[in-house]
Amino acid sequence: MSVMAELRQTVASLHAELTRYQLVAWTSGNVSARVPGRELMVIKPSGVSYDDLSADNMIVCDLDGVVVEGDLSPSSDTAAHAYVYRAMPEVGGVVHTHSTYATAWAARGEAIACHLTAQADEFGGEIPIGPFALIGGDDIGKGIVETLTGHRSPAVLMRNHGVFTIGKDARAAVKAAVMCEDVARTAHLARVLGQPLPMAQADVDSLYDRYQNVYGQAGR
Ligand SMILES: [Zn+2]
Repeated sequence: MSVMAELRQTVASLHAELTRYQLVAWTSGNVSARVPGRELMVIKPSGVSYDDLSADNMIVCDLDGVVVEGDLSPSSDTAAHAYVYRAMPEVGGVVHTHSTYATAWAARGEAIACHLTAQADEFGGEIPIGPFALIGGDDIGKGIVETLTGHRSPAVLMRNHGVFTIGKDARAAVKAAVMCEDVARTAHLARVLGQPLPMAQADVDSLYDRYQNVYGQAGR
């Protein structure tokens, strides 16, 4: 299989993780991947049911969001994904969801402070809030890039909107979206039940360093 055919299959398959972990409703939510070594990305078509997504109906766009291959319109969030790939060369995958708990924090414009070891592992501290931005044009992409550049977190909660995550590849970005919702749910429950206990910055740093560099099978 060619690199492009393989990437189309990967991006189509990863969308099943969004429904498996209940991060999306109807056709909202999308995954994209950068095509390695080329100024291209693979992204979901707009408005197609998750059950009908396949390698064949994925859309290939250039990094200005212009369709290069595909019969359908690309995701309405294509401009935001493309902006991230243009501005952050280390990013190989981008995911967007309106997952319930994380988006509830976004609705309040409140960053998720780090009170959990799992959050320290994956996000290295708080999950930040990005600015309010309307769809269409570069405002969402700009907000994502400005918030995540120099930040440990691979997830940003765009105010009044939802979650965008980045990763070295599409799978890493999907994992960040799953973990963001998991953390947001637990943090919400902790807040409802009382006042979450603080964690020392040194402990957060140590957990993050261990998880990113030692844990698992070297890398995520
Ligand atoms: Zn959205």
